[in-house]
Amino acid sequence: MNIADVPTIDIAELQARPEWSDWKWQLRNRIRTAEALARWINLTESELQAIEATKAYFRWQITPYYASLMDRDDPNCPVRRQVVPQMDEMDDDFDILSLDPLEELAHSPVKNLVHNYHDRVAFCVAAECAVYCRYCLRKRMVGDGEYAMNKTELQQGIDYIAAHPEIRDVLLTGGDPMILNDANLEWILSRLRAIPHVELIRIGTRFPVLNPYRFTPEFCEMIGKYHPVWINTHYNHPKELTADAALACDRITRAGAPLGNQTVLLKGINNDAEVLKTLFKNLVKMRVRPYYLYQAQLIGGTRHFRTTIEEGMALMEQLRGRISGFAIPTYVLDTPHGKVPLTPNGFKKRDGDYIEVQAYGGQIWREYNPEEA
Ligand SMILES: *Cc1c(COP(=O)(O)O)cnc(C)c1O
Repeated sequence: MNIADVPTIDIAELQARPEWSDWKWQLRNRIRTAEALARWINLTESELQAIEATKAYFRWQITPYYASLMDRDDPNCPVRRQVVPQMDEMDDDFDILSLDPLEELAHSPVKNLVHNYHDRVAFCVAAECAVYCRYCLRKRMVGDGEYAMNKTELQQGIDYIAAHPEIRDVLLTGGDPMILNDANLEWILSRLRAIPHVELIRIGTRFPVLNPYRFTPEFCEMIGKYHPVWINTHYNHPKELTADAALACDRITRAGAPLGNQTVLLKGINNDAEVLKTLFKNLVKMRVRPYYLYQAQLIGGTRHFRTTIEEGMALMEQLRGRISGFAIPTYVLDTPHGKVPLTPNGFKKRDGDYIEVQAYGGQIWREYNPEEA
């Protein structure tokens, strides 16, 4: 089929249908072929080529909802660049890059459970996602049947947590845990909640961004039984903050789950102080607290997305003092030894009984702060 002959989709007509806001319909109708994608956007030659060229190493698929946010004509659209394969992905130092830069496999005592910090674990309860982000940290496992979890394997993870009283915080991640239906999620949540030393349950999910219809009243009622449950999501660009996204976030916070956001710093998408300011200010309006800004990991096929760490720190400097303090996330580099904050700080030096600090406007302040005798 000639891509140029593919008829254009009528997005407004589709959005008016009742099934549009059915999260399962969104998943069933994900875009997985160049022909299907060509109905939504005018694919460039290079994108078409990339869809073929990247097939062998990383899968792609896009929900109709997220596709509706893409600019039809602009290949540099920040939504489009996150999810449509690009030829740039083939140009990376694959030989120096590991597929597991955080050494998660070495830190997994049982399948898909990463016990790296003493008091908390990341438990990858699902290997699938709604959409595959091109800069994914877990390219090694997402969408791979080998990492899917059956009940026996989930139970092994839960048994490990139950046998380790030092674990007080369990982060459900993946893949995306919200790909599971409510019954399966509740199966996991109820078993975790039955472990006395598990104080906190968190869910890391990109569904509020990619398929906001997942957060039904039934889901919200269900998680209410297992509090404290915290949810962290993953908005990268102000274009993603739609009315439907806001509704999902509103439902989550009303259900009693504090909502945080983890953004990945991505060249050409959000490495711009104004874009980040707008993103973080608008998240706060939706009662979503910016939590982390991640340095993009050294994952194969992501060179075109990675900024220097100095650039990231300079961007952070442009936020401090300019927007509400709680709208500013911590800029971090994740390493096999944990997350390392990269936020520049105002501390300059000690000078006798004084500490010299620099305010956001550049002014030097000398604080009387004698050393203990
Ligand atoms: C990020 C992460 C956590 C959670 O870290 P916080 O800083 O508490 O959000 C826990 N375990 C692993 C393996 C992680 O990568």
